[in-house]
Amino acid sequence: MRERLVVGNWKMNPPNIADAVELARAVAARPHGGVVVGVAPPTIALAAVADALRGRDIAVYAQDVHWEERGAFTSQIAASMLRGLATGTIVGHSEVRRDQCDDDARVAKKLARVAESGLRPLLCVGESAAEHGAGDATAVVARQIELDLAGASRRGLERLVVAYEPIWAIGTGNPATADHASAAARAVRAALKRAGLDADIVPVLYGGSVSARSVAEFAKADGIDGALVGGASLDPDEFAAIVRAFG
Ligand code: PEP
Repeated sequence: MRERLVVGNWKMNPPNIADAVELARAVAARPHGGVVVGVAPPTIALAAVADALRGRDIAVYAQDVHWEERGAFTSQIAASMLRGLATGTIVGHSEVRRDQCDDDARVAKKLARVAESGLRPLLCVGESAAEHGAGDATAVVARQIELDLAGASRRGLERLVVAYEPIWAIGTGNPATADHASAAARAVRAALKRAGLDADIVPVLYGGSVSARSVAEFAKADGIDGALVGGASLDPDEFAAIVRAFG
């Protein structure tokens, strides 16, 4: 039985550290029925949120990390700086790929660093609207997996999580269908196997406009083990309902 996991990606939404801590406490106060829960606060709130959640069974994730360990990289965060604050980090989110020009080569370097650091990597892949329209979704995610895993040690990837996030579904209120997500999860696992990983133990999450209303079909979708949740993770009651759907 694979782990069931739901992670809330708060992006740049909590307006300040105090609000992020309040949201973290609200998430921790709600029942999650055996589902593994994580939250990814903005970097500036990581330490305060980690503190607020100490001793609670909620994992804290960073939203991104740099591939170098030290040096002249203004504004960036090294994996070693996350020790004690986060159990893992998102890598390759489409908004970082879009806004910070992260291509697969950069994502691969980040993933290699995360794997080496002992943090849990949560790798995001997913096709654009144009690629979706052309019927290329599974080919695109398979290629991303191949390129993104290129430099990482297989031992460091033992706790890898993959989030399949079609870009056209993120923040649009228009989620993929469960069948589409399942087909992508199959393509992800086939690519993981080709890359030498035990794909059967890797949780594959679906992300893209998951809400309390849309979650039920993903919770029973073949090959989908949880969700990466953006907008709906900012409402602790709605997030708790999404978490419980995977229980
Ligand atoms: C995301 O960006 O990771 C995401 C899934 O966002 P939303 O749930 O808002 O579509």
